[in-house]
Amino acid sequence: MCLAMVLRFKRRKVLDVWLAVLFGVSSLQFLLKPFAAVLLGSGDSAQAYIGTTYAALSQSSGAMLLIANGLLMLLIIVRDAMAEITARSETDTLSGLLNRRGFEDRADRLLATTMRAGLPGAMVVADLDHFKAINDSHGHEAGDRVIRAFADMLGATADERAVIGRLGGEEFAVFIPGTNLPTARLYAEGVRSGFSSISIANLGPDRRVSASFGVAALTEGDSLSDLLRRTDAALYEAKKGGRDRVCVSDPDAELPPAVVTHGERRQGSRQRD
Ligand code: GH3
Ligand code: MG
Ligand code: MG
Repeated sequence: MCLAMVLRFKRRKVLDVWLAVLFGVSSLQFLLKPFAAVLLGSGDSAQAYIGTTYAALSQSSGAMLLIANGLLMLLIIVRDAMAEITARSETDTLSGLLNRRGFEDRADRLLATTMRAGLPGAMVVADLDHFKAINDSHGHEAGDRVIRAFADMLGATADERAVIGRLGGEEFAVFIPGTNLPTARLYAEGVRSGFSSISIANLGPDRRVSASFGVAALTEGDSLSDLLRRTDAALYEAKKGGRDRVCVSDPDAELPPAVVTHGERRQGSRQRD
């Protein structure tokens, strides 16, 4: 029964396969016991049984299998608990997307593999427009609904390989491996037009919320912060240009000092106002 349960489990990992093997071996050991008892002899009495080879083999193999099963199950429990803790610490509870830490961790790894494979890649960052005014006029909960709706739209139309995160407040980032600049721009444009046309519950039928987007392509030797810096500069241009638009990074352009580093981005966004 235990073996069947593990085999029915779809997302098996290495330890689960080992557990299935151990369950299989344990069942086999149990089924072979009568034959071994007949072949080797199991003694006429309980006292005689203790001294038989069969008893030594049966007891020691049974104990070893039991200990191995127990240890393996303990390892699986620890593995799952660690995975759960990691997932929680990397997930943004409001939007269900990765939080900044989770995003940076995953995007960094994916960026490295994308570059090693010689594939293109692109980053999209988005920031909701005049979001503070929504909080001020409709309340924080309404603001939260807007964040959730935007996160849903980012995820619904993204490439399945994309890593999507909420970097903080009303700022989002999407790293798309294997995608070039025009395709990433199309994706951003789709989210922009889609989002600015939907109405959000309790904001009023005519109230629309827009977002601004920056898009940049991965270039040779880029680190995640290099790519984010260029994407941020494009987002800055989108805000400066009037919001509700997508701007694409020009890799040769000089970055404005206010958005030179990722850490200074919030300062840059304040200066936009
Ligand atoms: P801009 O168009 O220049 O981006 O202006 P903005 O008002 O969107 O940007 P600003 O940075 O001035 O305001 C962001 C606001 O987002 C301020 C903060 O109170 C709000 N905010 C941050 N996190 C959350 C959240 O989790 N929920 C809600 N409802 N509001 C949040
Ligand atoms: Mg904003
Ligand atoms: Mg912002």
